[in-house]
Amino acid sequence: MREELILQSEKRLEIEKDSLEAWLTAHSNPVSLERIDKKDVPALQILQVNQSNHSIIRERLEDVNAALARISDGTFAICQECKNEIPEERILIMPFVNRCLICQKKVEEAKKYK
Ligand SMILES: [Zn+2]
Repeated sequence: MREELILQSEKRLEIEKDSLEAWLTAHSNPVSLERIDKKDVPALQILQVNQSNHSIIRERLEDVNAALARISDGTFAICQECKNEIPEERILIMPFVNRCLICQKKVEEAKKYK
């Protein structure tokens, strides 16, 4: 029943993985902070943006890889907290999610009060 959804998500995840990896390869050697003139504000800003992009892209790649791993072990689209199926609409928007909306909200609430 969900085979179509899983196949479709797997394709999207593979494409996303390729483009994320391509981005990381293209930006694999960001100029180090030491080599930049500290008065060169635009260069510093670009470096900062690049570094934060790097961590965002890397995190996203980890999420994508984890989702692909869940496809192989058969736990894809199943909420890791409550073990219910994650609704199809949610998977279509974000194929790498591992929680249903209710559990996701609970986790975010819990984080807020830490
Ligand atoms: Zn859940």
